[in-house]
Amino acid sequence: MERFYIFVAMANQDDQFKKVISHAKEYGYVFQSSEIYDGLSAVYDYAQNGVELKKNIRDYWWKAMVQMHDNIVGIDASIFMHPTTWKASGHVDAFSDPLIDNKDSKKRYRADVLVEDYCLKIEAKIDKEVKKAAKRFGDAFNKDEFIATNPRVLGYQEKIDGILSRLGKSLEAEDLVDVKALIEELEIACPLSGSRNWTDVKQFNLMFGTKLGASAETAMDLYLRPETAQGIFVNFLNVQKTGRMKIPFGIAQTGKAFRNEIVARQFIFRMREFEQMEMQFFIKPGTQKEWFDKWKETRMKWHLSLGMGEDNYRFHDHEKLAHYADAATDIEFKFPFGFKELEGIHSRTDFDLKQHEEFSGKKLQYFDHEENKSYTPYVLETSIGLDRMFLAVFSNALMEEELENNTTRTVLKLPAVLAPVKAAVFPLVKKDGLPEVAKEIIEDLKWDFNVFYDEKDAVGKRYRRQDANGTPFCITVDHQTLEDKTVTIRHRDTMDQRRVAISELKDIIKKEVDVKEWLMKM
Ligand code: ATP
Repeated sequence: MERFYIFVAMANQDDQFKKVISHAKEYGYVFQSSEIYDGLSAVYDYAQNGVELKKNIRDYWWKAMVQMHDNIVGIDASIFMHPTTWKASGHVDAFSDPLIDNKDSKKRYRADVLVEDYCLKIEAKIDKEVKKAAKRFGDAFNKDEFIATNPRVLGYQEKIDGILSRLGKSLEAEDLVDVKALIEELEIACPLSGSRNWTDVKQFNLMFGTKLGASAETAMDLYLRPETAQGIFVNFLNVQKTGRMKIPFGIAQTGKAFRNEIVARQFIFRMREFEQMEMQFFIKPGTQKEWFDKWKETRMKWHLSLGMGEDNYRFHDHEKLAHYADAATDIEFKFPFGFKELEGIHSRTDFDLKQHEEFSGKKLQYFDHEENKSYTPYVLETSIGLDRMFLAVFSNALMEEELENNTTRTVLKLPAVLAPVKAAVFPLVKKDGLPEVAKEIIEDLKWDFNVFYDEKDAVGKRYRRQDANGTPFCITVDHQTLEDKTVTIRHRDTMDQRRVAISELKDIIKKEVDVKEWLMKM
């Protein structure tokens, strides 16, 4: 649980983001939930390709975190938990965002986002100045120098920095009166009604409530879990005892979490129902600094193993910490709308276990045989959103490429290990026994890989479809195949084609899509 306020100015990359969203729909990756009823805001469904990509990301994480660590085990806790869990964890009292209503339009906003949007407008003015200057100076234009010296740009930037710094301070201090004062001073109007008739700023709890039980009188108020971590904390001793785990050890889990986000308009970046992949690592008190550094390094290596560009990641260490943490950092990724949090790594001390001990009245301690004493372990947490990781992978992979013959192709250069379909098999023509051979190849390969058969349209068109779908290999069966049992195999990224024996196909594909080959790069 963390609500940090980081304001990263967004460049105007709307177009690229729109392309990502429409490509995800057109190629069967992500659909708006219940679209025929006009959808539900910030709720999405994964389609036939999306579900495979998502599963492959989850498996890639699980293998690296659980299978490859003999001291980390997994669990699958329920979404429903006893309501006291959320009192103990602090979510009932503190898991909220600042909201404000416009009295005329009756529309609700996140107060901090209104201010952030205001800053984006100033940012757009900077962009305009830069574009104007670039036109004026032509080839001699030095953008960095211009931004660092132009008085008008500097003035705009100073204004943005001043506003965001004040907002950050007020939110950290929970000074909601000042947040409203800032909105009024900046004369921010409701985008819908245009009026500045605002209510006070209030905190809004992000947990979804529901009821358990058959009759209204006896029903118990429950919450849908807003994070998976608490399922791990409450099972800590069960797992430690039954698994005879010795500290340091970890418990990992993937699963749905729910947050009633006030502003949720960044596609699958911020959803109301989403999936987390979390791991709590239980350690001896006093060793947290060492483990924090170790997990920072391990998690970054995991990201880099996918080859999505070192420059696209950065750490953002938190200066101001949540009440339960003694160190925290985010791994940020360069999404189409700028650098944003992808994963959090938190040193959570013994806060959660101690809270659950207090609220449940049960001891949640570890007996250390070497030291011959009991203690409450400290916890190091790594927490990544599966959907955010999906968006990182998908948006990074989508590109338009200029080809030599002055045409362009749309290609989804997904890391081959994550691609939903590993190979597509085509008969060159729909006759002369070629479809039969292609289907035989499919029958053989499908034991090891997800494969796809396509005989419609010219081969060039079929290649383009698979490029846009992210399929790393295309295999074409032609008349020569009938004579010498060879096929052509085409690589998505290089578009190189090679003639190989059918019997070699499995090894060629495996070498490029095997999880081991990729994780070994860590
Ligand atoms: P943010 O500041 O972006 O709201 P957070 O700091 O509240 O995120 P955590 O509570 O640390 O997030 O959750 C861990 C991870 O879960 C995040 O790094 C992110 O990848 C993912 N996550 C959190 N909220 C959402 C959401 N609404 N939709 C999709 N993924 C989310």
